[in-house]
Amino acid sequence: MPHSSHPAFRVRVLRSGSAGNAVLLEAGLTRVLVDAGLPAEAILRDLPDAALTAVLATHEHDDHLRGAAAVARATGAVVLANEATLRAAGPQLAGAPVEVFRTGRPFAAGTVTVTAFPVSHDAAEPVGFVLEWRGARVAVACDLGEVTGPLVEHARGADLLLVEANYDLRLMAVSAYPWFLKNRIVGAQGHLSNDGAARVAVEACRGGTRAVALIHLSEMNNLAPLARDVVRAALDAEGLGGAWVQAVRPNAGGPWWTVPVAGGPAPTVPEPASAVR
Ligand SMILES: [Zn+2]
Ligand SMILES: [Zn+2]
Repeated sequence: MPHSSHPAFRVRVLRSGSAGNAVLLEAGLTRVLVDAGLPAEAILRDLPDAALTAVLATHEHDDHLRGAAAVARATGAVVLANEATLRAAGPQLAGAPVEVFRTGRPFAAGTVTVTAFPVSHDAAEPVGFVLEWRGARVAVACDLGEVTGPLVEHARGADLLLVEANYDLRLMAVSAYPWFLKNRIVGAQGHLSNDGAARVAVEACRGGTRAVALIHLSEMNNLAPLARDVVRAALDAEGLGGAWVQAVRPNAGGPWWTVPVAGGPAPTVPEPASAVR
């Protein structure tokens, strides 16, 4: 566990992509997972003392919820979801302690204040999350087909923004995916392209965001360096080139990132070298 004299707000993508998603956030003694779409054993390996406060569910799709019930049972964590997601999840959450939140209404997960906001995706009531602790704000948004007002509003100014960059339209056009699947992915309730992620990043960074992590990349239809370059180029073009941008490789995990908080340790999401405001 972290040293309580220097509490940190840390974020680590355990896995991201179509094969499973889980993002771990640590805020002092509170540990929260955004989604648990991996086998429970894989998640528990990254929780050495099996301490977890809550699992926040973005939506009911298997690659986000697969391990949630087993992880909650093993750690005593509560699964937090909105009512429509719970209903749609059905037996997937059997035996897990569950609590309901309302989209748009802030709630507590341990010492972290969480707000869910609506996103456009083909699920019952899909959401992204803003997590706030000691004045620092992390926004997580994946599985969404278009850039909407609530998404931009909640991403704007987040100290760390994790946003989906699922596919590159040019790679998608030549990939072997069947046409019905391509149509679903590029649709308004599908997934976000690199260009879409770039639009969100620009809006966020205009509002003061300095660090952007790209998640849920497609193994078939995207490449991490390409996604990163598309977003960087868009930020450069808007005079926001000082922001830090990283892309998490498809179906892989990332390092710990430390988000700056008052009295906390030095951030490992580096300050940009040349901030052009
Ligand atoms: Zn997904
Ligand atoms: Zn989904």
